[in-house]
Amino acid sequence: METKTLQANPLLISEDLRHIVTALRSGQVAALPTETVYGLAADLYNESAILEIFRVKGRPADNPLIAHIGALSELQKLISEPSDLFYQLAKCFWPGPLTLIGQRASGVPDCVTAGLPTIAVRMPSHPAMLQILKQTGALAAPSANLSGRPSPTSAADVLEDFNGQIPLVVDGGSSSFGIESTVLSLVGPKPVILRPGVISREMIEAFLGISIEVAGSGSPVLSPGMQYRHYAPKAKIHLLNSAEELSLFKERGAYIPETLTAQNLYAELRQADRLEKGEIAILLNRKMRSDEALMNRLEKASR
Ligand code: AMP
Ligand code: MG
Repeated sequence: METKTLQANPLLISEDLRHIVTALRSGQVAALPTETVYGLAADLYNESAILEIFRVKGRPADNPLIAHIGALSELQKLISEPSDLFYQLAKCFWPGPLTLIGQRASGVPDCVTAGLPTIAVRMPSHPAMLQILKQTGALAAPSANLSGRPSPTSAADVLEDFNGQIPLVVDGGSSSFGIESTVLSLVGPKPVILRPGVISREMIEAFLGISIEVAGSGSPVLSPGMQYRHYAPKAKIHLLNSAEELSLFKERGAYIPETLTAQNLYAELRQADRLEKGEIAILLNRKMRSDEALMNRLEKASR
């Protein structure tokens, strides 16, 4: 299969928009740009298209997908009786990198949520993604990488994993945030962050006026995908605390990112693999340690 790339700068021209919408409506998968990372998308209500996402990614069937919508009116079909809090958070943070979890509505295929009674939903802000979503309705889209590999933040990253394996990629430039959405569960007695992201705990707390928890590795598995080794390059990652350790790794020829932020993390991990480095050495500083999203991904990638 030849993988066709369509350009979005940042919008798609109408001919290409028609092409991608027709492909998605007919049950094909396509890699699409979002402001977090690129997603491998398919019609949420088409079971065989959803199974194709799992097959192409090599994703375990018990790892649920995030539903992406382009209009709040899509919510009723996905969430059974969204709470006032759900709507308030959606209106404040959407379109943007916050995923909300609620009780799933009856029309949602089992395979999307990996059989869970809940579903994760967000409205992304990339202009081309919104252009597409407004015409297709809800799309399920996990990150467009082989399962376990670092998430893709450019069309080139997607092609590295999937060239010849998927029919279409929309190139919408580098992802502006470069890290997956914050996942906030609203199904328990109190909101809980299941996955830290750019929308920080502080931002959500400021909006809600209460303190909230981030589910830690010690807590029960609330979010099935969280137990897997994730976001990992082939190279072994070493998280370091001192310049002395770093110079040892430098002598050994390890890959050493000059600066590391949530925004360029995955690009750096992929670059180390392209250069066939066996090791990546990262000196943690105070700024990095205070970034909950960055530390969460580094901890998972270095396991
Ligand atoms: P990805 O799109 O690859 O970033 O993966 C989506 C992640 O969202 C999953 O691995 C889960 O951790 C989380 N997620 C999706 N749906 C649910 C759900 N219903 N309940 C809890 N977590 C979810
Ligand atoms: Mg992923």
